[in-house]
Amino acid sequence: MAFCRSSLLLRRALAGSRRTAASCSSSSYAFRGQRRYSGGEGTTISAPGYHVNSGSSYMKGSVFWEKDKPITYEDFEMPRPKANEVLIKIKACGACHSDLHVIKGDLNFPLPCILGHEITGEIVEHGPHTDTKFIQRYPIGSKAIGAFIMPCGSCFYCSKGEDDLCEPFFAYNRAKGTLYDGETRLFLRGSRKPVYMFSMGGLAEYCVMPTNGLTPLPDTLPYAESSVLGCAVFTAYGAIAHAAEVKPGNSVAVIGIGGVGSSCLQIAKAFGATQIIAVDVQDAKLETAKTFGATHAINSRKEDAIAKIKELTGGRGVDIAVEALGGPKTFQQCVQSVRGGGKAVMIGLAASGGKGGIGEVDIIQLVRRKIKIIGSYGGRAMTDLPKLVELAEQGVFNLESAVTRRYKFDEAAQAFQDLANRSIVGRGIIEIV
Ligand SMILES: [Zn+2]
Ligand SMILES: [Zn+2]
Repeated sequence: MAFCRSSLLLRRALAGSRRTAASCSSSSYAFRGQRRYSGGEGTTISAPGYHVNSGSSYMKGSVFWEKDKPITYEDFEMPRPKANEVLIKIKACGACHSDLHVIKGDLNFPLPCILGHEITGEIVEHGPHTDTKFIQRYPIGSKAIGAFIMPCGSCFYCSKGEDDLCEPFFAYNRAKGTLYDGETRLFLRGSRKPVYMFSMGGLAEYCVMPTNGLTPLPDTLPYAESSVLGCAVFTAYGAIAHAAEVKPGNSVAVIGIGGVGSSCLQIAKAFGATQIIAVDVQDAKLETAKTFGATHAINSRKEDAIAKIKELTGGRGVDIAVEALGGPKTFQQCVQSVRGGGKAVMIGLAASGGKGGIGEVDIIQLVRRKIKIIGSYGGRAMTDLPKLVELAEQGVFNLESAVTRRYKFDEAAQAFQDLANRSIVGRGIIEIV
């Protein structure tokens, strides 16, 4: 879900963590080091095996205040789970373009908020009156993955098995930054100022999540790399399995080889696509695309991507094209790359409204050639996430190659800066502990 124009304003907003040699880009911007850890003040919950109980306790969380202001680290009251919710000690969280959309002001979201929506962690507390079957499945101390779409489990769409369209998730979380009782679980220590949750608010030491968004993480899979299953791979799976319905032998083009696009390549291969064409503007990403299963690579800065895709497919175009960038030009590229009767699947979020989020379609081509344009936001947590875990366990999906850069908790702003600079091939993850 990319939208990657870097700007001075964006750089200001991203300031707030120090650079490291491992994550330096060519940008000359100097980060201002806005960390506000309070050191020994209060209770820091970091001891392995610590389980929260009813006593007062605190955590650190990264706060995005508003556009052009640095991300800071603040003390929070320990979040409290309610019925059918769980408190998780977060181990890792991916850096995604959706977070970047909020940082850049392209996506409206209540502020201040904790970003981060692609997590793994350890179960530390169950909310009161939580279903006993869930408690048995997720005992205290067990490992779990959280999907960024956290289904309510009972709305019109969830009851049809289409929990990627869950009504309360969009009405409360995406629109209001809360869970489904209309309240956030995040309050600053002392002032109790409410801070909103982008999904679960994963760039913190702890988070509260509705139980329906979780899947157990087996001991055979690592915390850090597995976090990508909760958004990048989850989004790719939703697009390839439900929107595109890729079948063995299909030809698939993926436009934009970031965290989600590279996951689309791996999932398309797993579904039996035989011709997999990666399109990007960076040779480094295209080179890596081959390790994810791409059979062909097109640099759309050097070649006409549509003409080349047609040349590779007998003049017709691919069965399925996936757009993982979110821009009017790549939207058109995607539609024009498919054969008659083909599917153009859009998964890149664009800037809202008139800021570049409107794509144009050639109506005659659409009608005569029976082109299907399909939007896809993510996968289905309750049924897809367990399958993704299996794919990763069996090595069909290679988690290690999907994660290409690691950051520490206090380097979150740097991760987003690198993402904005398009310098991350694959996915960058932030290790919390
Ligand atoms: Zn995401
Ligand atoms: Zn629902």
